[in-house]
Amino acid sequence: MSTARLTINLQALASNWQALDAKTNVETGAVVKADAYGLGAGPVAATLAEEGVRKFFVAAAEEGAAVRQAVGPGPKIFVFSGFMEADNGLLFADDLIPLINSPEQFRRHQQAMPDHPFGIQLDSGMNRLGLEPADWAELRPKVEALNPQLIMSHMACADEPDHPMNARQLKTFREITDGVSAPRSLAATGGLLLSPEYHFDLCRPGVGLYGGMPFAEAKTVVTVDLPVIQVREVAVGETVGYGNIWTARRPSRIATVAAGYADGLHRAIGGGIDVFAGDQPCPVVGRISMDLITVDVTDLPNDPERLRILNGHQTVDDLAEAAGTIGYEILTSLGARYSRGYVE
Ligand SMILES: *Cc1c(COP(=O)(O)O)cnc(C)c1O
Repeated sequence: MSTARLTINLQALASNWQALDAKTNVETGAVVKADAYGLGAGPVAATLAEEGVRKFFVAAAEEGAAVRQAVGPGPKIFVFSGFMEADNGLLFADDLIPLINSPEQFRRHQQAMPDHPFGIQLDSGMNRLGLEPADWAELRPKVEALNPQLIMSHMACADEPDHPMNARQLKTFREITDGVSAPRSLAATGGLLLSPEYHFDLCRPGVGLYGGMPFAEAKTVVTVDLPVIQVREVAVGETVGYGNIWTARRPSRIATVAAGYADGLHRAIGGGIDVFAGDQPCPVVGRISMDLITVDVTDLPNDPERLRILNGHQTVDDLAEAAGTIGYEILTSLGARYSRGYVE
């Protein structure tokens, strides 16, 4: 093993979907945008389709092809960015459903492919994507006559259960959609975990499937193993790595492992992070560089061949907290250099 290894546990993924689905009495889809949060849209979507997922979501039409190939005909694949210029070919070829975000997108869709299914994304206060309530009020009769596949909106603060924005968006979404005959969806992972009022007809979790917060009960989906390149003795007073930020206070053994910020292990991760030899934590010391990380293995009885940085003890959210970001960004940053393996 000369490069770091990323292992994706598809059984844990399936079990996370089942656990989220069990929290609702409505349909549960799956968000597989950004190559399934970096974990591989093909294997992830195929696994979830086998579990019974019938509605998938991607960010852009280009991402739909891999999902369609993995799940075959049947399951619906929705595109959050809606109908972008020159998307007709992709939407048609892979039978993707654009979620219309603006009057322009609606016109474009009606002109280019009037018989092709579509859904509607509404803005309920986040001001990122979706039709504004006034535009929606104007389009609603036309849209409803065309039988949209889904009417959805997205929440800005659902990972903070006490945030007043949640109730505000719920109220707005109800006001602007009550009475529609199409299925409705408001909740991603955060909204699904809030309360049944947020569930409507379909929940569409992403990050919780992949083992990230706010789904605290999630099983670990990703493990990352780092090969040890060499181990050296470092005397008291010697320093390790760029900028001399770590100095040995005792005679130390330092292992250098093959991964770094080019693999999504951000330079900002800094202190307080361990890598593991089995269950035994070993502190990361010195600065994370592009391809290398240095680890204090003095307390291990033997020099390890590999060390694990992501596991059930230390999650994507722990790394994220150390880096000042969120688990989503750690997941989607895990780079192309890993050798990847999937366990069923
Ligand atoms: C990313 C995204 C989701 C999934 O969100 P999670 O927080 O990962 O569950 C759902 N809906 C929309 C519109 C999104 O952009």
